[in-house]
Amino acid sequence: MTNIVGKSVNYLGFTQSDWCELLAELGEKPFHAKQIMKWIHHRFVSDFGEMTDISKSLREYLTNHGGVSEPEVCQELVSTDGTRKWLIKAASGSLVEMVFIPEDSRGTLCVSSQVGCALDCSFCSTGKQGFNSNLTTAEIIGQLRIALRRLSEVYPDRTRTVTNVVMMGMGEPLLNIDNVLPAVELMMDDLGYGISKRKVTVSTAGVVPGIVKLAESTDVSLAISLHAPNDELRDQLVPINRKYPIASLLDACTTYARNLGEKRTITVEYVLIDGVNDSAELAAQLSRLLQGFPCKINLIPFNPYPGTTYKRPSMIAIRRFQDRLVADGYSVTVRTTRGDDIQAACGQLVGQVEDRTRRQSHYKTIVTGGAA
Ligand code: SAH
Repeated sequence: MTNIVGKSVNYLGFTQSDWCELLAELGEKPFHAKQIMKWIHHRFVSDFGEMTDISKSLREYLTNHGGVSEPEVCQELVSTDGTRKWLIKAASGSLVEMVFIPEDSRGTLCVSSQVGCALDCSFCSTGKQGFNSNLTTAEIIGQLRIALRRLSEVYPDRTRTVTNVVMMGMGEPLLNIDNVLPAVELMMDDLGYGISKRKVTVSTAGVVPGIVKLAESTDVSLAISLHAPNDELRDQLVPINRKYPIASLLDACTTYARNLGEKRTITVEYVLIDGVNDSAELAAQLSRLLQGFPCKINLIPFNPYPGTTYKRPSMIAIRRFQDRLVADGYSVTVRTTRGDDIQAACGQLVGQVEDRTRRQSHYKTIVTGGAA
């Protein structure tokens, strides 16, 4: 079980099967799982003493062996467009970021899975922070619990504030799959947060063994960060491509797509960077590559951050790229940039990472020409 910290258990990360297992060990009835989970995830109660419909002895056992504990919120920032970003303190002491994007008919929570990221995609500021550690299941699901409580104060008239969750914050979810899977299960479980499997999305830079493992255990929605239609270019933008090239990535996705049924498809994310991957030739190549692959394409205009030399293409170039794909019959959306005034847009999340990979100092040297 991944929820044990020292001798103390964080029950926030317990799935229904974790509860049933524990209750069986204690000789208790499995229906208590339902009661306890409703207290924790529906009523946001963290103190077992308040869970009045379970026996005193069970409450005492749980209290003596652990608790329900969320990561601490250190800061909340609100963009002029209503996007909200929270800095959350992980057990390691580093800060990760989580973002809520409100729209008229839905609200999307972008959740982090790791402190920093080990992958170092060339256009992503999270990668420049280096990597520190994985978030625990409790720290991942805790982000949703924190957001729901806070948003019910901000939007008292809305019955549902978070309708969609995307694992597109800091980190590579499939390199922390053992903690991400139970968190995703809790997001979708009716005794957890009851979000439809269509509306919970795991996004990956292309960790093929992770996709294979995901296919064995869930049917959550999947997005892949493709960003280039050939290995030569993708090797430069998304270095993990050198280990798992495009053909193996699309292969794993085709297997995964079987879990999704006929009406659901995989999302192909493509960051558009001026003069790097936005030409008509590359649009045509992408169209050929994805022929027959069950997907929709999401174009993400590059979001700049301090120190990058990449630029966002003009709106005309973005539309041209989109039109080329639409003409070939693809469903293509362009992601609206939200929250960039508070550095909350895709790829701008940096938190405050106690870097273990010494990548931060490496990039500082590059940006300042060695003066750091
Ligand atoms: N590691 C996962 C999830 C995190 S990133 C993944 O790679 O999918 C979420 C999305 O934002 C990814 O598609 C990522 O490539 C994209 N992204 C990263 N940096 C960006 C930037 N500067 N501008 C726009 N999108 C960016």
